[in-house]
Amino acid sequence: MTKETIFSKILNGEIPYDEVYSDENCLAFRDIQPKAPVHILIIPRKIIPSLREAESIDAELLGHLLLVAAKVATKEGLKNWRTVINTGADAGQTVFHLHLHVIGGRAMSWPPG
Ligand code: AMP
Repeated sequence: MTKETIFSKILNGEIPYDEVYSDENCLAFRDIQPKAPVHILIIPRKIIPSLREAESIDAELLGHLLLVAAKVATKEGLKNWRTVINTGADAGQTVFHLHLHVIGGRAMSWPPG
C-alpha cells in the first residue's frame, strides 16, 4: 500500500499548487516556502518515497526528471541553479514522495548545511 503525502494530494488535485510544468510522468510547481527567488519542486506521478526506493525500472523516469529540471530552470531564465534531492530525514527530507528541488536566482555557498 502506498502512503499518502502532501505531494500525492497535490497530484490528486486535493490541495492547490502553483504549477510550472506538467506532463504524463511528472509535475513541477513552486515551493510554498521558497529558499531562493526561484524554488521549484519536480515530482514524479509514480509514488516513490525517496531515491532509496528507486529501482532500475525507474531509470528513464529519473533521467526525465533531471531533463525537466533543466527545462524549467531555463524557462525561469536561470543560467545557474542547484538541483537537490534530499534522501532521508537527516538529509533534510520532510516529504516522503521523491522530489527534485530546482533552486536559483541568487549566489549559493558550498557545502550545504
Ligand atoms: P524536502 O525537505 O526535501 O522533503 O522538501 C519538501 C519541500 O516541500 C519543502 O521545501 C517545503 O517547503 C515544500 N512543500 C511542503 N508543502 C508544500 C506545498 N503544499 N506546496 C508546495 N511546496 C510544499
